[in-house]
Formats: sequence, C-alpha cells, structure tokens
Amino acid sequence: MLNRKLLQIRNLKKYFPVTAGLFSRHIGDIKAVDGVTFHIAEKEILGLVGESGCGKSTLGRTIPRLEEPTSGEILFRGTDVARLDKKGLRELRKEIQIIFQDPDASLDPRMTVGDSICEPLVIHNIGDDRERAERVDELLEQVGMESRQVALYPHEFSGGQKQRIGIARALAVNPKLIIADEPVSALDVSIQAQILNLMTDIQEKFGLAYLFVAHDLSVIKHMAHRVAVMYLGKIAELAGKKEIFGNPLHPYTEALLSAAPSLKSKVKDRILLRGDVPSPLNPPPGCCFHPRCHRVLPICSQKEPDLIEVSEGHFVACHLY
Ligand code: SF4
Repeated sequence: MLNRKLLQIRNLKKYFPVTAGLFSRHIGDIKAVDGVTFHIAEKEILGLVGESGCGKSTLGRTIPRLEEPTSGEILFRGTDVARLDKKGLRELRKEIQIIFQDPDASLDPRMTVGDSICEPLVIHNIGDDRERAERVDELLEQVGMESRQVALYPHEFSGGQKQRIGIARALAVNPKLIIADEPVSALDVSIQAQILNLMTDIQEKFGLAYLFVAHDLSVIKHMAHRVAVMYLGKIAELAGKKEIFGNPLHPYTEALLSAAPSLKSKVKDRILLRGDVPSPLNPPPGCCFHPRCHRVLPICSQKEPDLIEVSEGHFVACHLY
C-alpha cells in the first residue's frame, strides 16, 4: 500500500543567519534543519520525533515554504517545490495543509467558525456561496461537530473543539498531505485520544498522508507507520514503527524510549540524557550527539556519521553500525 512517493526531501537545509553589531555582520547560522533526507509515501503517516528545539517544526514549515529552504530539494509529486512561482506555490498549499499545535493560530477570533472553514475555499476560488456553505456543513460533520455551530466564534469552543475546527479547515481543499505539528500537545490528555482517533479516521477515509510531528513517543506509536528520530537538525534514525520500538539502534532513540517505560519497548533500563540539546548555532563537532551519548567512541567527536541503511528500510546515523 505504502509505495508511491508523495514527498521526497533530499539534503534539505534551513539555516537562520545570525548577525551582530552596527553593520549586522554575519557571525554564524542557526542550523535548524541540517541536511535531512527522507520520503513520505502516499497514504503514509511518517512520525517525526525528538526533543523540543531539534528542528522538527522548522522542517514542517519549510516543506510548504512557509520558511524558505537554504538548500536541498523538496519534491512533491515530482515537482520541485523550491522552483515554484507564486501561482505554483498557491496550488501547492492546496495540496499540503498544516495543522498547528495551537488551534488559535489558524482561527481568526473575529471570524465565525463557518467563515474560518470557508476561507480556504474562497482563497482557492472553489465553489459558489451555496456549494461552500454545504461544504462547511459537511466538514463540520466529518470532524464530529454540528452544522448549527457554524455561526459561533472560536472563543465559544474548548481546545479540543477548536482543534476539530482546525482539522476541518485543513480538509476543506482536499489536501494530499497534512503536516500536523504537535496537534494534541496543547490539549488535555482526556481529549488527546479523541483527536488522534479522529485524525486516524480521516487519514483512512480520505487516503491522506501525514507528517506527524510530536515529542511524545506514545502519540507517535499510536499514529505512525514509520518514524524519523531527529536530533539537532539531523535524522538520527529512520525505520518502520515496529523496528523503532522493537529494535532501536541509535543511542538517542534508546534514551528516548527508556524515558517512556509504559511503551514496553526493548529498552528496559533508564538511560539518562546528560545536559540539554546543544545550541544549533554552535553544534558539537563529529556526531552532534556525542556530548550526551552513553555509548560514545573516540571517533565520535572527530567524524560525523552518515545516515546508512543497516537493514531494509532501517536507517541510522551512528559509528556503532
Ligand atoms: Fe553515540 Fe558515537 Fe553513535 Fe554518536 S556516533 S550516537 S556519539 S556512538
């Protein structure tokens, strides 16, 4: 089922220049995304996990060019996203939609829920007034809400309901790929499962692909088909969900899994991660994880490991392999 590539990312970089002084001299770059390669197949959910500050959200925003990439390739259905002009980009943003962590980010407090959901249809010139109104009713129903709520304003809804409205808005233009950036992390635990189940139902019903960004491994385990583990702007490990949870190879993946014993992963003993994620302005040399790694080797501070395929579909960037 999961074989046709919808999105291909090759050696993607997103650096934010840092300047100082009166003449704004360029003194370095924050390397938020630093040479990332992966693909998402049609109808696939790729989970993207890592601690906060590892570049997950920037990567998600760079794919539809909400952030301009510094270099690398983004191919969506074979089209080079970096080369799209304004019109092409508008078309692309119909195909790729984002669901944000904070549903308020996509809802204008001065607009009714109906107008918010309808806005993408207006922007993309889809349907007439009657067809749009029917579509809004249909979308509200698809996300478990009622059409009579169409005239209410965002502040009249709970966080979970607002996220449902955000999902309806994202679905309005029939996208092929949804980038879901921590879509449940701001919600109460009791609500999280409802939203995750809704997202799974919608993915299956409409044959969507998701790039599902989360820092919570249990959420990733619930949702993803494959998992990419990101550390300091790079992919540390990438594999099918069963492999990541049953046979983690990268010491960073091991440490993340050991911190979540309820997941019943292969890692039994708690591995304490020393210190915080280093600054992406000045990443450590060699393997950028080496100052925190519990299996560090002498070579690790000297040479950066490549991301290599150690078994079919299981990639890891570590000198141990
Ligand atoms: Fe640890 Fe070395 Fe592997 Fe990096 S390359 S994860 S420092 S063992």
